[in-house]
Amino acid sequence: MKIGLVSLGCSKNLIDTQNALSFLKASGHVFVSDPRQADAIIVNTCGFIESAKQESINTILEMADYKAGRCKCLIAMGCLVQRYRKELEEELPEVDRFISIDEYRNMEQILNETLHSETICQKEIMLATEPYTAYLRIADGCSNHCTFCAIPLIRGKYYSVPFEEVLENARQLEAIGVKELNIIAQDSTMYGKDLYGRLRLHELLIELNKMDFHWIRVLYMYPDEIYDGLLDTMASLEKVIPYFDIPSQHGSDRILKLMNRRGRKQQILTTVRQIREKFADPILRTTVIVGFPSESEEDFRELMELTEQIRWDRLGAFAYSREEGTPAWRLPDQVDAEAAQKRLDELMRRQAEISLENNQRYLGRTIEVLVERKKSINSPYYQGRGWMHAPDDIDGHVFFTSDRPLRAGEFVKVEITKAEMYDLYGQLKD
Ligand code: SF4
Repeated sequence: MKIGLVSLGCSKNLIDTQNALSFLKASGHVFVSDPRQADAIIVNTCGFIESAKQESINTILEMADYKAGRCKCLIAMGCLVQRYRKELEEELPEVDRFISIDEYRNMEQILNETLHSETICQKEIMLATEPYTAYLRIADGCSNHCTFCAIPLIRGKYYSVPFEEVLENARQLEAIGVKELNIIAQDSTMYGKDLYGRLRLHELLIELNKMDFHWIRVLYMYPDEIYDGLLDTMASLEKVIPYFDIPSQHGSDRILKLMNRRGRKQQILTTVRQIREKFADPILRTTVIVGFPSESEEDFRELMELTEQIRWDRLGAFAYSREEGTPAWRLPDQVDAEAAQKRLDELMRRQAEISLENNQRYLGRTIEVLVERKKSINSPYYQGRGWMHAPDDIDGHVFFTSDRPLRAGEFVKVEITKAEMYDLYGQLKD
């Protein structure tokens, strides 16, 4: 059977897509990118914030149009379904089956039931990414209860994937030739605490570093859990790159407290200082929210000040989205959308300057680049990523010329000649 799969949302959702693909692959299903060619279409939805919910619903409706043609079955899964299944079942009769997170393992059976067909499958890994890069999920759910966030409602309590199982999953990725491993969880630094009573991310990294990967990157590190032992271990492992993705969320202690974040502004500054002391050229990435309930002009100035002090290499910011069922939903003084947008624009304007200035440090340097593809058919440029660019399309790319043909997944040296806010430009250096 030909299956079309649309994956929305973050890299953690992409892992679920990957699992769904893996469960379906062994039974002979093939995957098509053109929904007109699909017998069944699966939409993996995102329900994180308002705009993501809307995008998910629009995508479901768009895919439902293909049922007038070849497609016989439309399936919806993912965070939005987890959160609003009952309402969606009532509102979207176009969807033949809604699947919740705990049903993913039965994907094959569900598809058979829905289509009245029969196949037997053995799970086999199937990447939803390019073959040289992969995400490795080490935990799911979250027990942090940030007051703005619906993730604990959607995905439940934090649970670590058992240590040996993580390593086995990594070995499978190693065996199929993955070279860049991106470790993810809602909170990667919490790894192990629930299962083993202690933080074990550093132990995982030691084992992963022994495998045949080229780069190992950790994403989503909660600031107050970045322990000394972790930093020391990261600094000692040659494949683990000094990439620090630290959601800081705000720069005002008052707002951080209302957000139920552990750690305050000083703690974030201390963590960043420690990283800069231990690593020669770390990449620092963060996400923040503006317009959280009761955020005053003074609170916002504190966020701007922290941004100036730290000078993050990358900063992703969102205007606060009021999510039903979260504690912040009930908070008084919700900030007017226009004011929040104005603050967001100011923050992003300043961050654009900082990112550009930070990116200039690569000028004249030769860096290692993972080749992805030609930028376009007739372009003289190849597109790749340096170690400072995660594969989630937030960080930018390296575009470079080469006088010899290159293969996707190859590592090459590129001399950087131009730096923009996100992207770097250069030429192959043999
Ligand atoms: S750490 Fe906070 S923001 Fe991140 S998933 Fe958990 S509750 Fe949500």
